[in-house]
Amino acid sequence: MKIAILTSGGDSAGMNAVVRSVVKAGILKGCETWIVREGYEGLVRGNTEYHNHIAASTAAAAAAAAAASGAAAHPNFEFVPPTIDGDPGDGATQGLLHSLRFGDGPLLRDGTADYADGRTLKGRYIVRVGWDDVRGWFAEGGTLIGTARSNAFRTVDGRLAAAHNLIKEGIDALVVCGGDGSLTGADVFRAEWPKLIVELHSQGKITEAQVQAHAHLRIVGLVGSIDNDMSMTDLTIGAPTALHRICEAIDNINSTAFSHSRAFVLEVMGRHCGWLALLAGVAGGADFIFIPERPPKSMPWEDEMCAAIQHHREVGKRKTIVIVAEGAIDRDLNPIRSEYVKDVLAERLGLDTRVTTLGHTQRGGRPCALDRILPTLQGVEAVAALLESTPETPSYMIGMQENKIRRVPLMEAVKMTRDVSRAISEKKFEEAMSLRDPEFAESLDGFTATSTLMKEKVLPQDQRIRVAIMHMGAPAGGMNAATRAAVRYCIRQGHTPLAIQNGFRGLLDDNVVELSWLGVDSWMARGGSELGTNRTLPSIDLGAVATKFQEFNFQALMMIGGFEAFNALLILEGGRKHYPAFHIPMVHLPATISNNVPMTEYSLGSDTSLNALVDACDAIKQSASASRNRVFVVETQGGKCGYLATMGALAVGACLVYTHETGMSLDMLRRDVKFLKTRYNLDVKGRSEGRLVIRNEVSSSVYTTDVLTKMFAEEGGVLFDARSASLGHTLQGGIPSPTDRARAVRLSLKCMAFIERHHALLQRQHHKTRHATGESAAVITIQSSSVEWVPVEEMLKHADMANRRGKHVWWSEVKELVEALVGRPQLITTH
Ligand code: ATP
Repeated sequence: MKIAILTSGGDSAGMNAVVRSVVKAGILKGCETWIVREGYEGLVRGNTEYHNHIAASTAAAAAAAAAASGAAAHPNFEFVPPTIDGDPGDGATQGLLHSLRFGDGPLLRDGTADYADGRTLKGRYIVRVGWDDVRGWFAEGGTLIGTARSNAFRTVDGRLAAAHNLIKEGIDALVVCGGDGSLTGADVFRAEWPKLIVELHSQGKITEAQVQAHAHLRIVGLVGSIDNDMSMTDLTIGAPTALHRICEAIDNINSTAFSHSRAFVLEVMGRHCGWLALLAGVAGGADFIFIPERPPKSMPWEDEMCAAIQHHREVGKRKTIVIVAEGAIDRDLNPIRSEYVKDVLAERLGLDTRVTTLGHTQRGGRPCALDRILPTLQGVEAVAALLESTPETPSYMIGMQENKIRRVPLMEAVKMTRDVSRAISEKKFEEAMSLRDPEFAESLDGFTATSTLMKEKVLPQDQRIRVAIMHMGAPAGGMNAATRAAVRYCIRQGHTPLAIQNGFRGLLDDNVVELSWLGVDSWMARGGSELGTNRTLPSIDLGAVATKFQEFNFQALMMIGGFEAFNALLILEGGRKHYPAFHIPMVHLPATISNNVPMTEYSLGSDTSLNALVDACDAIKQSASASRNRVFVVETQGGKCGYLATMGALAVGACLVYTHETGMSLDMLRRDVKFLKTRYNLDVKGRSEGRLVIRNEVSSSVYTTDVLTKMFAEEGGVLFDARSASLGHTLQGGIPSPTDRARAVRLSLKCMAFIERHHALLQRQHHKTRHATGESAAVITIQSSSVEWVPVEEMLKHADMANRRGKHVWWSEVKELVEALVGRPQLITTH
């Protein structure tokens, strides 16, 4: 199959990762891979101009050069015979080797560069690319193959030219990465294809053989859009990075807003979708947000906004952040403009107010970890969908549902997306909300719960709970955000949030304080642990711990932490046999950079540390590439859980990854050295790039990072040298990622709901003999899209206690993918 990929509509971070992934996955499946420059416009223009140019001037020279090298006389690509010796291997291996270089990375980036040998991109929009042409692409924002809005493609004539251009190059499958407009265009193109073929044939532009060979166009869509506005997918490519940019801006604005006691109105993108504004509101700790799907409840909305902000100011808040989505409207569909919001705040509340419009900065910058991992996985799935496509199957869109990559019918997704806009335009806001994914509504609830001070809504005295909150184990991004959400929810309900400082040791020393609404205001963006954390378990003195529970009259416990917190919960639950003080609802919210808590797919902090790893590795790779031929062995934390190393390797394009789960052996190392030698041998002379190897800190006690580095340096000889870098505790720190913050709020509020539910059940029992069931000591887990409560006893069955990790992990196949995407299996078998 010949697969072409194009990026269309507005650019978004992660588009390059899609191109890289489609090209590599395509080659691995034995396909020929092509890119189309400048979106649909490139498809319409094709290579006509280039062909004419070649015909007029260099056709003879090109044919002669091609004949001399034994390659096909095709002016559109240069065949560079592989220089590898030995067994050529199977089809996929040959495909990889033969396609190492067809285009040229720098050539594509320069766009119009003319090379001495006649290669040029001028007038050439459909270009064959090989394995190495897309190497390292996903560290770059935007789209390196260009994007455009094409009016020509909206016309039948334009699409006729596009079809002709594809057929001329023999291409029979198309991957389109863009927004809903681009995907609509893709579907129109596919639906119309049979007619276009008949027309081209009747005009004598294609032969009967071409009609037969191209009767069916295979198309698959990937959603590249920073707004996260597409239905039937939870996350679009580029949206996480845009959210990063917005949160960075809010974090920066926060300090100046606080200093001057100012109000800031921040306008963010989102014409028809409030996802960016909503998530930025949650993760940035904003005071008020305006989104298209849910306009302010009351009219005039100015009163509602001013009342909320006035409340915050009355409790002593010095700064105010209001976020306005580009498409924000009131209940009568009148646009809500940030300048007007500013005027209202200034005139009614007398606040010194400024407007910041983030504009295109939201699109830019290096993609975050999620915008490397998800597009990579989606690109692989796109190729699989193309290969399985038949004339009967619908065009698919590859999306994310329930944390899994999914194929959904493209047109259904586009229609549903349009339905949201229609519902909004008909003032059916509930319908618009229901058409978004369930997390959207939960995030909105989360925002309301953590940003509003509604004292009048507190629960009756007998339903109020004294909730103890504690951090356990090593710090992880999102711990403070989760605590902030819990505290604010408690205050809103009339509960008492009690912080246990410094874990169980702190409890025994009476380090318990009541937290206030304002006191936790700036915790959203704070890394580390504001409460203080350590690894001491309650078994240090279970009886004394129970006494303290009684003394402080804890009626519920929320522990935020990693494997220690899980262990602590087990001990406390076991202690219920002897100590009535533990017969209260107790929850564990997993937070650890290692992501090693059993049964949950994500712990708080795992996204932050992945991003820290990506940042560090990008810098290291730059240094490694500057030295042209350096292998960097990067050591990561993670204990005996290889999540961080494996997903990190996928996010940075590492060529090898070592984990405790797979272990390390001499045979493995011998094959890896062989792979590296083969790979460096295949690099264009003088243009070798640095390569990363990621090693989890405890992969092997013998083949340490130092040993591995020395071994690579020794074996690399003149081909490559090796250095090491240990990321250590840098992975724990820094500002928590927006994903971790938003997840923290969502899960924390679910913990509070759990506590209220189980507290109510206990209240119904007789006071003297209150007995908490096993279900009331539970861990909150993310399993696919659903959040599941697992009693701690049940968790035990799924835990590998000796190695401090789960028995089964969802990411176990990622290591193979990491290695497949650098061609390791193929390059090893060829020698
Ligand atoms: P963004 O979310 O950034 O706006 P988009 O993909 O929705 O991205 P559009 O400008 O709507 O951006 O569409 C991109 C291109 O897709 C258009 O310039 C046009 O070439 C093509 N396209 C859109 N709608 C159609 C259609 N109905 N028929 C044919 N082509 C279309």
